[in-house]
Amino acid sequence: MSSIVVVGAGLSGLTAAYRLSTGGADVVVLEAGPRPGGRVDTETHGAYVVDTGPDALTAGYARYLRLVEDLGLQHRLADTAAVIGLVRDGRIIDVDPGKPWRLPFTPALSFAAKIRMLGGLVHARKAIAEVDSYEMSCSAARDDPERSAAEFATDLFGTEVADYLIDPLMRLTTGSGAANASCVNVLGALGAWSSSLKTVRGGLGIVTDELADRLDVRYGATVTRVDDTATGVVIGYHDESGEHEMAADGCVIGAMYHQATEMWPTLSAACPAFGDKLRNVKLISVSLGYSAHTATRAYPVLVPTTENPEALLIFMQHNKCADRAPDGHSLVTIYTDTTVTDSFLDRTDRELELWAAGIIEGLCPELVGRREMSVVTRWPMAGYLADPGFWRRSSRLLESLPTDGRVKVAGDLFGAGSMESATRWGERAAEELLRHLDDHR
Ligand SMILES: Cc1cc2nc3c(=O)[nH]c(=O)nc-3n(C[C@H](O)[C@H](O)[C@H](O)COP(=O)(O)OP(=O)(O)OC[C@H]3O[C@@H](n4cnc5c(N)ncnc54)[C@H](O)[C@@H]3O)c2cc1C
Repeated sequence: MSSIVVVGAGLSGLTAAYRLSTGGADVVVLEAGPRPGGRVDTETHGAYVVDTGPDALTAGYARYLRLVEDLGLQHRLADTAAVIGLVRDGRIIDVDPGKPWRLPFTPALSFAAKIRMLGGLVHARKAIAEVDSYEMSCSAARDDPERSAAEFATDLFGTEVADYLIDPLMRLTTGSGAANASCVNVLGALGAWSSSLKTVRGGLGIVTDELADRLDVRYGATVTRVDDTATGVVIGYHDESGEHEMAADGCVIGAMYHQATEMWPTLSAACPAFGDKLRNVKLISVSLGYSAHTATRAYPVLVPTTENPEALLIFMQHNKCADRAPDGHSLVTIYTDTTVTDSFLDRTDRELELWAAGIIEGLCPELVGRREMSVVTRWPMAGYLADPGFWRRSSRLLESLPTDGRVKVAGDLFGAGSMESATRWGERAAEELLRHLDDHR
């Protein structure tokens, strides 16, 4: 039986550990924090169930959904409300893709913009089908370091569609507007986010909790060193009882890039340009509970940068799944845009609550005077900014990594920052490591 150490009990590390252990390996997971999930986090506040980190997933999350089924949790999968909201001229317009005959009449876009949008979609359909959002190295050649998603979308669809559809779609999928995104993200998001939206009853943390329950996870164990030797790996870590070393046949690193490079410098040495230019996505999520239901039936409410440069996106959680708020109540989550988060990080929770309430209650006046709960979560390392040129650099990093070593990298570095990328790259790390150990047995 091979012995493997997995660093990090986030979704990618836990997925790798689960696949390794069902593949016959003896696996220990070392996690610096006190709980499983990493960026996946569900908190309960009274009768409110709050996903403070990732929120949305689509029917196209093939690996993630298969993992949920393998864990016996398929009964928890649910469809969210199909309605999508768009903020235009200071109000929310509900768009229901389940009623396609109404789409030509939606005031979300002008008639001319709808025609431009259809023309652009027909023109780009082959490219959209070719881009795999969760494995962007295949599409790195399409990434133009000199051309932003905003410029690309304006050429393809015209200004109105670029500003009111593509820009908020980039905010939903990258953490900032189209001016800061790669043009490949436009193609990827149009393909990936055309599927219906799904969720997990009880909160997304149920999946990572279930994975952790089936594994040997040691919490409060911070890995400081991963040494790849000719005969195995040696992991240095510390916990409350002191410094330790653990020898194993292989290792999967599921920590984020900046943490992974500290313990395993081979990662930064493989392609220094990647680390030099890397910018992190920083977000703050503010979730507010209200003792009234919103008029909007939408789950995601897209916010174009031109409407509000500070508010990235809004999720109406009670329209995601009925269990997120008590009957007749609403749970609304709003995020800061990456470009403003630094200037918001020092604000108190109360100041952030008031900022969020001002925007939400301006859009949903039926909620004024009904606020009863608030949760603020700061994410100074929410992900990696997929700016123009990012996918070329990420693809070069992937090509430069040693393929025959005993150390594999999981995480969401090589696909759009998402639970699907984390699952996919966790599984890939496990498969490659099992193959390597088999070949060298
Ligand atoms: C606010 C927010 C909103 C998001 N929205 C969405 C969304 O709507 N849909 C979607 O699909 N995705 C979304 N994401 C992205 C998604 O959460 C991530 O892509 C995914 O969870 C990454 O999982 P991971 O395992 O790769 O990394 P992480 O979850 O970051 O896990 C890494 C783990 O490694 C541990 N670790 C780090 N260093 C060490 C060390 N030295 N020793 C031991 N352990 C260590 C960390 O404590 C952590 O638990 C969002 C993320 C955030 C923050």
